Amino acid sequence: MQQRADQIRRDGHTVAFVPTMGYLHEGHVSLMKEARRQADRVILSIFVNPTQFGPNEDLDSYPRDPARDMALAEKAGVDLVFTPDRNTLYPGGYETYVIQTQLPEHLCGLSRPGHFRGVMTIVAKLFNIVKPHCAVFGQKDYQQLAVLRRMTADLNFDVRIIGAPTVRETDGLAMSSRNKYLSESQRTAAVCLFRSLDAARDLAEKGATESAALIKTATAAIEAAADTQIDYITICDPDTLEDVAVIDRPVLMAMAVRIGQTRLIDNMMLTPPA
Ligand code: AMP
Repeated sequence: MQQRADQIRRDGHTVAFVPTMGYLHEGHVSLMKEARRQADRVILSIFVNPTQFGPNEDLDSYPRDPARDMALAEKAGVDLVFTPDRNTLYPGGYETYVIQTQLPEHLCGLSRPGHFRGVMTIVAKLFNIVKPHCAVFGQKDYQQLAVLRRMTADLNFDVRIIGAPTVRETDGLAMSSRNKYLSESQRTAAVCLFRSLDAARDLAEKGATESAALIKTATAAIEAAADTQIDYITICDPDTLEDVAVIDRPVLMAMAVRIGQTRLIDNMMLTPPA
């Protein structure tokens, strides 16, 4: 892959990169299409990265469908799919990781210790292998995007980071490879994340300013849905991810909710009236 990347650059082409864990859906497709608009060559990686999974998480059961992924990638205009195996990226004796001091101490970082260390490490490695000019990430994983923007700036990676909007099912549920785990009734319940965020956005647009009140309303709506358990619901600064008590500027509302055993995340910007 490094040699191919060198050749592409020597030929004078630009490279846009889309890292994924596979089991592709329309959200991933939108990133590939954005990448297509950004550069002459689009490289997709598919790698279920073990270092970003906790000991009790779904590394071994993470869904896979390589043949379908290839077909979707080709249709979206991807030039090259990079599918490394675990031992190539993490051979015996591997001991180097990327850490960050502030951003991972919020939101998902609190319930998934080590997750962002794993994410930063794999993305740094992939940047060194694929040597892209730009890389596209989804806003659905808002904290991941923030952490990676910070890492790219702090470590002087010569890669432009592009955030792409969340792609949703028709009822509003954010697309995710993990939606596959949901039973029919859980799938129905799962729309509570989007609905509660959308309701909060509405209230903020109409002038509600108390974060605590909006979080309370969202909590009640999610608890009313079947089989749900809230991990966190936060209203925070979109740059630092620090909690915000009064909505006097655009802020981020983010949540993680377990539907049965499946942990789903979603987020939305809340903007007060001008
Ligand atoms: P994953 O394969 O889940 O690790 O995701 C790979 C990339 O796709 C990440 O940048 C995600 O933020 C992005 N992504 C996942 N779901 C969506 C979605 N519904 N809309 C837009 N981007 C997404």
